[in-house]
Amino acid sequence: MTAPALLAREQALQGLAAGVDVLVIGGGITGAGVALDAATRGYRVGLVEAADYAGGTSSRSTKLVHGGLRYVPQRQFGLVREALQERDRLVRLAPHLVAPLPFLVPLYRGVRRPLGISLPAAARPFAGIGIRLGLTGYDLLARSALSHRSLSETEALSYAPGLRPEGLSRTFLYYDAQTDDVRLTHAVLATARRHGAITLNYAEAAAMRLENGPRVTVLDRLTQRPLEVPTRHVVNAAGIWTERVAALAGPSPFRITMSKGTHLVLDRPGLVDGAALVIPETDDGRLAFLVPWRGRLILGTTDEAYQGDPRTPQPTAGEARYLLEHLNRYLRTPIGPGAMVGAYAGIRPLISKGDGSPSELSRGHEVVEHGSGLISIIGGKLTIYRKMAQDTVDVLVRRDRVTAPCRTTDLVLEGGADLEAARRDAGRRGESLGLTGDQVEHLIGAYGSGAVSVLELIKQEPALAKPLLPDLPVLYAELVVACREEGVLTLTDWMVLRSRLALLDRHQGRGCVREAAALMGRELGWSGAEEGQQVKAFERTIEAESAFLASFQGTEAATSGEV
Ligand code: FAD
Repeated sequence: MTAPALLAREQALQGLAAGVDVLVIGGGITGAGVALDAATRGYRVGLVEAADYAGGTSSRSTKLVHGGLRYVPQRQFGLVREALQERDRLVRLAPHLVAPLPFLVPLYRGVRRPLGISLPAAARPFAGIGIRLGLTGYDLLARSALSHRSLSETEALSYAPGLRPEGLSRTFLYYDAQTDDVRLTHAVLATARRHGAITLNYAEAAAMRLENGPRVTVLDRLTQRPLEVPTRHVVNAAGIWTERVAALAGPSPFRITMSKGTHLVLDRPGLVDGAALVIPETDDGRLAFLVPWRGRLILGTTDEAYQGDPRTPQPTAGEARYLLEHLNRYLRTPIGPGAMVGAYAGIRPLISKGDGSPSELSRGHEVVEHGSGLISIIGGKLTIYRKMAQDTVDVLVRRDRVTAPCRTTDLVLEGGADLEAARRDAGRRGESLGLTGDQVEHLIGAYGSGAVSVLELIKQEPALAKPLLPDLPVLYAELVVACREEGVLTLTDWMVLRSRLALLDRHQGRGCVREAAALMGRELGWSGAEEGQQVKAFERTIEAESAFLASFQGTEAATSGEV
């Protein structure tokens, strides 16, 4: 008998087999955005994702929703303006998931390349004037009420108590926003489903025939059974895999090369207080960020050519050393490798067109119409996923010669409506159920007004109020929601991707994995043997990360003598 949580999957398979107007390939933020835009314009939409939703680059970002300060000195004003507009829109349409955050830019005497601009020696004493101009430009492009300002040293140190005061000449504060990339993707997917889209994870587009009634062969990766999906349009939103997917329909007009960006997760939250820190100068002419996130700090990122498996990019010791070294230049008391609880790497697609010239389209985006009829959406960034989707669906509408204007410009995402009332309601209910304020705030951050339904579930089954780990606010009730409503299928996806426990916990979530497997087994109808296999698969996945952390921490602590 099929477990109730899997019935939705059966229905999705049947719905896809019946045919759609638009089949979207890829369940990261871009594909989710396209599915939502197309569904709200009246298309019957299907979305297939080869692994788990957001399991590619969309779970591995710096989690910023931003204009991109470093593109101001490069005079990419159009791109920055577009991203800032989308940033402010998302703060309005998904207030539970996208929140403004102050960013500090500390400038020390002798700074040589702030924000990637090379300063001749004579200009270095005036670096502050240049940064101020850049930030004024950013404010003008944003046209928002939150503008930058200069901070006194005392103010700067109150936002970033870990900052080194010696040599600090100026500190600026400006605003951008931050998010939870995976939850944002799920909110967009849930909103798309609410508008009729069918979404299916562990469903890989394996072949396609586009002439005379397009059809895509989708492989159900749970059963290994192929499924034929008749469709009128096919949109390729496969991120770093777009070239491979394009090749299913003929020679690809673009090439993708991969560049890896690594982040470290640190448990030194006291370094900053309610603000992110910009590391304004790196040895390779970029900038980096230290961002508070879910009770930890994210430090990133690097930028290195990558040739390995796009599914499993791993941080290296060299990248971890680079990041810690750069951060430590700005700290009063340097931190050692012992501060790291986790690390993750993501891949940027670098795109080259027919003439072979590489251009980093990760800043801009492009909708490519293939001769075969396939449409690929390439480049872009998390912040502008909505605009990327709008531009893609505009092409479908033009092809169909219909009038169907974009409806996502003012569409509140799932969980974003009536947030303040929901927060008050959740606070009252949470208290009566014995939850802490942190746990309730965490639920609001993850589900918005949907937190009230999670609390209702806890009321029915009080044991679900328990956190999976004592020092992190993720509750067992969320695991049940992930099974029943969000299509989670494996223990590894829950631990690594959905709850992030494997990333945020110093022991990679080992302390709760068996209990989590038992509850998932109950929800998804696993046998005891299946439960055991799921635990083993999770342990294999985190082995590489644990080995990396242990070896890096061992080697570095031995050489630096500090933890
Ligand atoms: P992905 O998330 O990779 O999704 C593509 C999906 O397609 C995958 O899930 C994959 O499994 C699926 N797929 C592949 N082949 C098939 C197939 N045959 N059938 C079905 N599905 C398939 N942007 C920001 O705005 N802010 C940031 O702070 C930021 N930080 C970043 C930091 C780093 C290190 C990197 C690498 C990127 C960062 N970005 C940031 C950019 C942003 O993360 C990406 O632009 C965005 O996540 C890309 O989403 P996507 O949906 O296009 O790709």
